[in-house]
Amino acid sequence: YLKALNTDLEAVVKQRPEQLAAANSALEKEKANLLKLSSTDHLTGLSNRHHFETVFAEYSPAARGNTTDPLILIDIDNFKKINDTYGHVLGDTVLKSVAACIKKHSRISDITVRWVGDELIVYAPRTSLKQASQLAEKMRKQIHLLELSQIETITISAGVAVMQAGDTLSHLLQRADHALYEAKQAGRNNVYSAAPA
Ligand code: GH3
Ligand code: MG
Repeated sequence: YLKALNTDLEAVVKQRPEQLAAANSALEKEKANLLKLSSTDHLTGLSNRHHFETVFAEYSPAARGNTTDPLILIDIDNFKKINDTYGHVLGDTVLKSVAACIKKHSRISDITVRWVGDELIVYAPRTSLKQASQLAEKMRKQIHLLELSQIETITISAGVAVMQAGDTLSHLLQRADHALYEAKQAGRNNVYSAAPA
């Protein structure tokens, strides 16, 4: 009886490491899922504001070296009117389509973010201001071409600004926001770049 018991026990002990490894792998997967969930905007699937702020803060100015690191601030034109005319559900679809288009035309190294409401960000490290403006222009054109049932046209305006020595995210955003304001003032469906200070 004791011998049989011992054999059973040995079998159980043998299985333990495998079971632990499986449990560990399941936990790691769950952890990765939770991390993804907490850094993602649920509506658009882009990074959320909190995630971007964290990544930006960790990305020290020293590590940035001399690279210009442009930020493109994108805002959907007349989005309130789209919501008022077609309802919030279709408004959400517009937001999702714009976000998907931006993601599709950005590089893997770019960070695409839903900043707030209908404002989205493309942060494009190691890109020149000119390249970032061209990228924003490409996105503007592609979004203009989007076809969604019922809605006539969807357009965005964008402001582009580059990182400068001593800049915080707030400084960078202020300059991008100013350029965005100019793009709106110029009649919307426009990309404006902030002149380096
Ligand atoms: P402008 O061209 O000047 O940007 O005009 P606008 O109407 O787009 O003005 P603004 O950018 O200030 O409006 C943002 C609107 O976005 C207001 C708000 O109702 C709407 N909004 C914010 N978040 C959501 C969302 O998750 N879903 C939907 N459907 N609408 C949202
Ligand atoms: Mg808007």
